Amino acid sequence: MEFSYYMPVRIVSGSDCVRKSGSLFRGLGARALIVTGKSSAENGSLSDVTTVLSANGQAFEVFDSVPPNPTVASVRAGAALARSFGADFVVAVGGGSPMDAAKAIAMLARQDAEDIFTHPIGADVLPMVHIPTTAGTGSEVTPYSILTNDERETKQSISAPSLFPKIAFLDGKYMRTLPQNVTVNTAIDAISHAVEGMLSQTACRLTDSLAREACRLLFGEYESLLSGTYSPESRQNLLEGAAVAGMVIANTGTSPVHSMGYSLTYYHGVPHGRANGLLLPAFLRACARKDGARIERICSALGMGLDEFSARIDKLLGEREKYSDAELRRWASKAAQSRKKCAIAFSEEELYSVLRASVGEELRE
Ligand code: NAP
Ligand code: ZN
Repeated sequence: MEFSYYMPVRIVSGSDCVRKSGSLFRGLGARALIVTGKSSAENGSLSDVTTVLSANGQAFEVFDSVPPNPTVASVRAGAALARSFGADFVVAVGGGSPMDAAKAIAMLARQDAEDIFTHPIGADVLPMVHIPTTAGTGSEVTPYSILTNDERETKQSISAPSLFPKIAFLDGKYMRTLPQNVTVNTAIDAISHAVEGMLSQTACRLTDSLAREACRLLFGEYESLLSGTYSPESRQNLLEGAAVAGMVIANTGTSPVHSMGYSLTYYHGVPHGRANGLLLPAFLRACARKDGARIERICSALGMGLDEFSARIDKLLGEREKYSDAELRRWASKAAQSRKKCAIAFSEEELYSVLRASVGEELRE
């Protein structure tokens, strides 16, 4: 089997890893822009970073106004600050939103892009350190930055090898303050990444092995996710599981589940991971009708059949959202236009059926 796999991120994991390995920041330059949201001031992550930078004699500025589902305006504001401050590197601290924003900021700090979504991203991007405080997106190990595109009324990714961070620090203690709904939604996002990666045209032995390990780590914490009680080990398992799932999609990309989910988020504010969870079981059932062997491999990685998988995801999601047929038609059309490397082809009508079975007013397949 021929394949190519690329993962240039140094991953440092474990309790207090930022403080213990603070010397790794030294090689990145004299001035750092910290890109974050509001919660990092309360969960200890921001103070760990500023303590380390101060100890290293590195100057820093904090940009903490990244909104969830980052906008182009917010990353342009961050890039303007990076330029005026003369940042040599960027430290992202937070969930997928600050981590994705940091990548676009690191690029825009060095490149003028009139239209960020069509701009050919060159190699000249500020080096980045990513410190996740949610366990879901895996953005700390991917070359993707997902931004809100109001012109096309969706979320859209920009991607380039230069958007891989140089270093990712994984410390589950920052997630002690994570609300239960965010913990569950982000874990579902990570599960979705592992599963969707196995559906990709570019899935290979290596990404499938990573996907299996991600499923083992994430479903190993299923009881914690249901009960909402987490030991430090549970938090670390979820964080590492999400990073391993990120290492899958870094090379495989995601599937139409993500494309359809973007509409739920864009039009109704459904959190990203929850949107995927609402759609994934029906999508897998539709895949099973087209390529049973591949779905069997996925079920083997999950350690359960599709019925049990659906039931478990349903339990985590609780009551489902429902949307009008007209909306579902529009979202199916948008998703059909988005380019994904899914090995199983889906027509617009088939995507509409998945949406109807997942979030239709009458759930029908
Ligand atoms: P998020 O939008 O980054 O964070 C969700 C909420 O949790 C925010 O209100 C955030 O507040 C808060 N929060 C974060 N960490 C916390 C902590 N430790 N304690 C308490 N609150 C905390 O959500 P996310 O699910 O991690 O990221 C979603 C974004 O990532 C979406 O835009 C999605 O499209 C993108 N994504 C990217 C990739 C990729 O490969 N790049 C993959 C999948 C998804 P503050 O932000 O104010 O701190
Ligand atoms: Zn995702």
